Amino acid sequence: MAAVPRPDLLERLAVQTAERAQAQLQRRLRSVERAEGPYIESNGRRLLAFCTNDYLGLAQDPRLISALEDAANASGVGSGSAHLICGHRREHAALEEALAEWTGRERALLFSTGYMANLGVMQALLQRGELCVQDKLNHACLLDGAQLAGATLKRYPHADVGAAARQLRSDVEPSALLATDGVFSMDGDIAPLRELAALCTEEGATLMVDDAHGLGVLGKDGAGSVAEANLSEQEVPVLMATLGKGLGCSGAFVAGSAALIDGLIQFARTYIYTTAMPPALAAATLCALHIARKESWRREKLNQLIQHFRRGAEDLGLPLMPSRTAIQPLLLGNAQRALEASRALETQGLLVVAIRPPTVPQGQARLRITLSAAHEQAHVDRLLAALASLRLADAPV
Ligand SMILES: *Cc1c(COP(=O)(O)O)cnc(C)c1O
Repeated sequence: MAAVPRPDLLERLAVQTAERAQAQLQRRLRSVERAEGPYIESNGRRLLAFCTNDYLGLAQDPRLISALEDAANASGVGSGSAHLICGHRREHAALEEALAEWTGRERALLFSTGYMANLGVMQALLQRGELCVQDKLNHACLLDGAQLAGATLKRYPHADVGAAARQLRSDVEPSALLATDGVFSMDGDIAPLRELAALCTEEGATLMVDDAHGLGVLGKDGAGSVAEANLSEQEVPVLMATLGKGLGCSGAFVAGSAALIDGLIQFARTYIYTTAMPPALAAATLCALHIARKESWRREKLNQLIQHFRRGAEDLGLPLMPSRTAIQPLLLGNAQRALEASRALETQGLLVVAIRPPTVPQGQARLRITLSAAHEQAHVDRLLAALASLRLADAPV
């Protein structure tokens, strides 16, 4: 039997990479030599950055650095193993307890990254063929999680609760998980959480909220979008958030009932078969959590900057999107146009990344501007002046 020639996998990958470059959609890695407040140094140039997710300006806080150093001096760098072997240290336990208390949940469980948390939750909760209903603009790892679990994935148009209801009702499969971002990572708007919770209660579906961009930023004491919507553990049984955004550290957690957490410890493969995060990082994150809760001036300052930016952008006629969070994208449409705008800003000493397909839908390329409590009003004014010089308002979207 004549064998079909096997494709050379690396050659095929190289062809795909070349096609991306040809379509001007290539992703490029930038090496950052130094970070200092809202500034970064890259290729020997100092740039004012509007693209980190360090919304409260905590990533370089000296108190976090001390907490990290102290814990590393006391217990070393690596955890040495997975949580279930002997990697679960008291620093992890203390952080889990504080996260549960902050979010008003019975318990919390740490994961090494948000990506792993979402894969683990979906794979533990969903069986093959069961229904997973998701907002079309959910983060990539929620979509991947449902696919990895072998669930039947249905995606409703962005924030369309009616469409979500139809998808839940159209399926014969009785078990269903509805998953949504709390704050959408590329758009900055907030999911209709109360309506989705009511729908899930009515339909007997389980609601999962990924609050990566809400934690620290929204709600009383920064407890997040779910707290802001005043939704209980019964209404949002699965709450996930990351520690690498508003808290300025790294990692993630899932919070909910003791039954959920016990189940994840048994069945979430991305929890079981991976090294526990460095305990010193857990100690630094606990420090960040206390600061985020206590120093509400960070949220107030951030909100003032957001309002200042939006007022200025409106005056300039810039294509703002309906967002009241730290994520303030300018919708430019064409990928080339977004890329050119980003390059032009860089020549003026500003770093704002262009987000292009496939990260966002075709024709919806944008500048993803993020603000932080590390910025000052003068920084935002500098951004507005640079944006004005690009004359973005004149060209068609
Ligand atoms: C960043 C992000 C994640 C992934 O978290 P990491 O800790 O960076 O892996 C998951 N969900 C959303 C909505 C995110 O924005």
